[in-house]
Amino acid sequence: MANNEKFQWDAIYDVAVLGFGGAGATAARFAADQGAKVLLVDSAPEGHEGGNTRYSGQMVGAGTDYNALKNYHEHLAAPLKPDKAAFDNFIEGMANMGDYFRKYLDVEPVSMKKLLAGTPSTAYVTEYPELPDADSYDDYLVHEGVDDAALWKILRQKVLERSEKIDIWYASPAKHLIQDGITKTVIGVQIERDHVLRNIKVKNGVVLATGGFENNKEMIQTFLQAPYLSPIGSLYNKGDGIKMLEEVNAQLWNMRSFESLGQFHGLSLRQKEGLRSTYALNVFWQESFMGSVIVVGDDGTRYFNEAEMNRHGHIYNHGDWAVPLNQNRPYMIFDQRKYDELKNEPENSFKVPGYLEKAIKADTLAELAEKIGKRQEKLQMTVTEFNFMAQQGKDYAFHRDPKTLRTFNAEGPYYAIALRQNMLNTQGGGRRNGHAQVLNPDGQPIPHLYEAGELGAPFVNKYTTGGNVADCLISGKIAGENAATIKQDLPLSGGLNLNDAIINNDFNSTSDEDKQQYSVGKNQYLGFSNQGMGDGVVVRTTVDNEGKIKNVEILKQTESDDYGLKAVKELPKKMIEENTYDVDAISGASQTSRAIKEAVKDSLSKIK
Ligand SMILES: Cc1cc2nc3c(=O)[nH]c(=O)nc-3n(C[C@H](O)[C@H](O)[C@H](O)COP(=O)(O)OP(=O)(O)OC[C@H]3O[C@@H](n4cnc5c(N)ncnc54)[C@H](O)[C@@H]3O)c2cc1C
Repeated sequence: MANNEKFQWDAIYDVAVLGFGGAGATAARFAADQGAKVLLVDSAPEGHEGGNTRYSGQMVGAGTDYNALKNYHEHLAAPLKPDKAAFDNFIEGMANMGDYFRKYLDVEPVSMKKLLAGTPSTAYVTEYPELPDADSYDDYLVHEGVDDAALWKILRQKVLERSEKIDIWYASPAKHLIQDGITKTVIGVQIERDHVLRNIKVKNGVVLATGGFENNKEMIQTFLQAPYLSPIGSLYNKGDGIKMLEEVNAQLWNMRSFESLGQFHGLSLRQKEGLRSTYALNVFWQESFMGSVIVVGDDGTRYFNEAEMNRHGHIYNHGDWAVPLNQNRPYMIFDQRKYDELKNEPENSFKVPGYLEKAIKADTLAELAEKIGKRQEKLQMTVTEFNFMAQQGKDYAFHRDPKTLRTFNAEGPYYAIALRQNMLNTQGGGRRNGHAQVLNPDGQPIPHLYEAGELGAPFVNKYTTGGNVADCLISGKIAGENAATIKQDLPLSGGLNLNDAIINNDFNSTSDEDKQQYSVGKNQYLGFSNQGMGDGVVVRTTVDNEGKIKNVEILKQTESDDYGLKAVKELPKKMIEENTYDVDAISGASQTSRAIKEAVKDSLSKIK
């Protein structure tokens, strides 16, 4: 929003960071360390901020050899060329990631490459082993664990530790940038707070860190030519940053670049629109592509090699690996023999509970085709051709490993499971320079506007694990520090000049983090744990005069709505019944159970 009218400002900050995910947390923290007073906002309610960073595998791209990392990443980008400035920052940041972990995250990095050495899972770190210098690449973890929000919790904690300098507003989406009409300087931002649009004056810099457009159907259609893709991360990334970039005439880049994740080049169980899906058929689930099983696309024919390893959804395409091919209604098709194998497969972490119950059954292929809306003759022809190739021991169509081929049973029943292309994250956003400034179409920085994270990430083509979170840490630091730098170029036009500003004294801009206070009565004790998937669990335990547990109240939790909530409901009852915090965990909610148990233990430890 460009405006020169007289304005009433509701609050003034040195820096505003829009989006409290990995990039935003990093930018806010480093801006605060430069002495800036920072406003950090997120559109999600408390406990749901964290964006894709919270849900991510927590792997951070790293290495030690700058030249080798550069060579590998240039080949990943080929035949496209990455933009030099942002790319160089990224490579340099990765080559120094070990120091970053020690200095800024206070942990010794754990090398995934070392952890996985000798197992097939190393392919997850070295996704393109055939490219030169692929060996230089590693993924660092903050401890020996993945998918557990561990890095996110550290990034968030670093923000909370700077509460004197950083105000946090949850459930407060940024709606518009406020730009000076003459100088084009971004001098503020409009944020919706309690259903009212608030004008926030920003003296030195606004950092856009609102993530991608994973949940914006219109943008997915426009930029990715798909009607819908299943998000597997945050539901709050709706492309707002792209809209704000468009408002201030920023140059967009990498709009077509996006990633999926998991088996079958990133297909998930088909989920209702608007809900998160898991990467159903996981990354290394070998059983899913062994034998009489195929995947068909919209017309009932195969469209890729089902045994191809996960490369973030990218699919082999005439010597290169293209961004995922979006079929609208793909299905996994298999026979009774395969069904039995899947059914009898021992439990493993790759399986999504209950997936096989979603299988559609039919006595014949023709009937199956009808049930799943495919043309009968196409599906029949596909299976006939597959059987022929399995007999020959050669997949002429997609070169699937012969060891994985087996003819379908001549007799039914046959099965189909509905799948959908999933969406890990998008890379598109504003073009940035080496100072994380957003550029206009002429390549000139838009004054006071910065960007970090997956909104405008520097990945132009093939992508490898850990790249985005590494970029959050790298670009977040650069954006935060530069946004905090005191600027001498304040615009003088209209009522937007800070000196003329009218400030609304009735508006209270207090941080949401300062509002939480819990009371205790006689024999009541508070306990806390940060072990869960959410932002922490606070409990109030009541004991009798003998110290026996009489009540356990969970005062605050932001665990998952499904399994997590089960633990929240059931564990307190168990603890009272058994008079101990040390009860059995709820199945499927081990992390939430651990958090509740630790919080109650903490509260009991305070009994004198
Ligand atoms: C399941 C999964 C696993 C992944 N694993 C890895 C991995 O191991 N390593 C890796 O490098 N990458 C991984 N990725 C990708 C990576 O997580 C993301 O690209 C990265 O975390 C993005 O960070 P970000 O801070 O840019 O955005 P996000 O973390 O998504 O944060 C953006 C924030 O902006 C907020 N927001 C949106 N609009 C507004 C608005 N208008 N106003 C205010 N706030 C707004 C959102 O609520 C959100 O909290 C994974 C992604 C997923 C989904």
